[in-house]
Amino acid sequence: PAVPVGSILRAAVRRWGTRTAFVDHDVELTFEELGRRACAVANWLAASGVGRGDVVAVHIPNCRQYPAVYYGVVMAGAVFSPTNPLLPAADLAAQLTDAGATVLVTWDQVLPFVRPALEATPVRTVVVTGEAHTLDLAARLDGLADGDVDLADLLAADPTDRHLDAAVDPAADLAHLAYTGGTTGVSKGVELPHRNVVTNVLQSACWTSGSLPELDEAGDVTLRQVLGEDECPIRLGTATLVNLTPWFHAMGAIGYLNGMVMAGTTTVVHMRFDPVRYVEDAQRYRVTSIGGAPPVFVALLQVPGFAEADWSHVRGVSSGAAPLPVPLIERLQAVLPDAVIGEGYGLTEVTMQATGNPSFRSGTRKAGTVGVPVFDTEITIRPLGGGDPLPVGERGEVCIRGPQVMRGYAHRPEATAESIDPDGWFHTGDVGVLDEDGYLSIVDRTKDMLLYKGYNVFPRELEEVLFGVPGVAGAAVVGRPDEEAGELPVAYVVRRDDDAGRALTAGSVMAAVNDRVTPYKRLRDVVFIDAIPVSAAGKVLKRELAARERGAAS
Ligand code: ATP
Repeated sequence: PAVPVGSILRAAVRRWGTRTAFVDHDVELTFEELGRRACAVANWLAASGVGRGDVVAVHIPNCRQYPAVYYGVVMAGAVFSPTNPLLPAADLAAQLTDAGATVLVTWDQVLPFVRPALEATPVRTVVVTGEAHTLDLAARLDGLADGDVDLADLLAADPTDRHLDAAVDPAADLAHLAYTGGTTGVSKGVELPHRNVVTNVLQSACWTSGSLPELDEAGDVTLRQVLGEDECPIRLGTATLVNLTPWFHAMGAIGYLNGMVMAGTTTVVHMRFDPVRYVEDAQRYRVTSIGGAPPVFVALLQVPGFAEADWSHVRGVSSGAAPLPVPLIERLQAVLPDAVIGEGYGLTEVTMQATGNPSFRSGTRKAGTVGVPVFDTEITIRPLGGGDPLPVGERGEVCIRGPQVMRGYAHRPEATAESIDPDGWFHTGDVGVLDEDGYLSIVDRTKDMLLYKGYNVFPRELEEVLFGVPGVAGAAVVGRPDEEAGELPVAYVVRRDDDAGRALTAGSVMAAVNDRVTPYKRLRDVVFIDAIPVSAAGKVLKRELAARERGAAS
C-alpha cells in the first residue's frame, strides 16, 4: 500500500484520540499525546538535518518514550534501526557501523559502556533517555556529556504535524533497517520499505480480527478505509494488553507497536519480563489478550496462582517467534477455556508475519500448525537443495512470496541472491509441510537439524513429545558429536516445581519419549538444567546448548 508508516499513527490519533495508548509505571499517555510527541521528535530531527534515508538507531528497552521515538523517526522520513538494548558494546558498534547509523537514541544507564564503542562508528548525534523519563520527562538524566541531547529536548519541539513524510516513496524508501535475531548465525540487516511495514501491519490486523478488506490492485481502497475517515472494514478491537514483546524485534515492532496503535489498544508497558508482576497487572487491568513467545507462557504457567485466577476477561492468546508445542497449548487452554489461542509464523525477512492460525478466512484452527498465509501471501515447499515445489504432505524448505518480503539484506548482495530467487520467492531456511487445506506446519529450522547415522532428526519433533511428559516444564534437544553416529540427540530438560517434576530421572524421561518415536530418533541422554537459555525475542538459543555438547565431546 502506497502510504508511509506515519499514516498508521495519524489514523489512530483521529480514531482513538483521548483513549489511553500506553501505561507505564501508572503514567498514562493518550493517542493524541503520542501523536504530538511523535511530530515533535520528527520536527527536531528535521531541524537537525536528519531526514530521508538517514538511519536512526534506537537502543532503548520498551518504555513509554519508545513509541514517540519510533513514529518520530519514520515521520521524519528517516530509517528506524532498532537494536537489542542488551547487546554487548562491541556487537552494538558493529551493528551501528553496518547500518550506517548517524543518530543513536540510547539509555543513560548503558551510556558509560556504549560511548567508548561509538568512536569507530558513523554515529554523530547521541540522544539520551532513561528510566527517570518514564516517570517524568523533565527529570534530569545521569552521565550526559557535552554534545549529548536529552530526549526531553526533542519531545519539547514543535508538535505540529508538518507531513515531513509526504516526500517519502513508500515502495522505495526504507522505514526499517531491522537486524535478524542472530539465533542461528550472524545477524543481518533487513531492508524494509514503508510499503512492507504498512502491508504487514494490515495483514496481521486482518488475521487477529478475522476480517478481510476488499483490495484493489494498488491496495489503495483498503488503506483509505482502514486509515482514512471511512468506516473501517477491519474489525479493530479495543483490547487491553500487558506487553512483553521487545519492540526492537519484528514481532514487537509490527504486531505489538504498530498493530496495537492501529487497533486502539491500551498497552501496559513492562520493560522486563517479571512473570509475577505480569500476572498482577494482567489481573489489575483486566487484559483482553495475552501475547508473546512460547517461553513466556511456560513461565506464566509456573506462577503460583496463575491457573486458579479468574481469566474470563481474556478473549485471545497470541503466540509467535518460536514453536508452540501442542501440550503447551492444551495446558494454556485448560486455564483459559474461552480464549482463542492463535499462532503466527514469520521472520524478520518477511517484515514479521507470513501465516496465522486460526485461518483469518474461515476461523478454522488446526492445533500444531502455524495456519494459512495472511492475505496476499503465497507459501510453497521446495526440496532443501532447491527445485520445484513439492506436493502436499512432503517436507521441504518453506518459501514465501508476498508484498512483505524484504527488499534484501543491507550490503550483502550474495546473501540476498541466495535467499530471494528471481521469481521473488524468499527461501526461509525453515523445514515445513503443507496439508491438503493449505495449513503449514513448521518441522524445524534446517540449521537445528541433526544427522544421526545419515538420518535427519528434527529436534522439534522430540521436543513436542517431551512437552507432553508429566513434570517437564521446558525442553530443548541438540546434537552431541559422536564419532560413530555423527550426532546423538540429547535433551536438556527443566523440571516442573511439583511432585511429577521432582520424580523425573534421565531414564524415566528417555523411556517416556523413546517409546513414542522411531528408533533412529531416540534420545541418548537427558541433562537437567534450571532454565533453557532464550534470546530476548524468546527463541531457544540452541547454539549455546550445542556448544556445551561440543565442549563435552572434546
Ligand atoms: P537469525 O536468522 O539471525 O538466526 P532469527 O532466525 O532468530 O535470527 P527471526 O527473524 O527473529 O530471526 O526469527 C525467524 C525464525 O523464527 C523463523 O525462521 C522460524 O524458525 C522461527 N519462528 C517464528 N515463528 C515461529 C512459529 N510460530 N513456529 C515455529 N518457528 C517460528
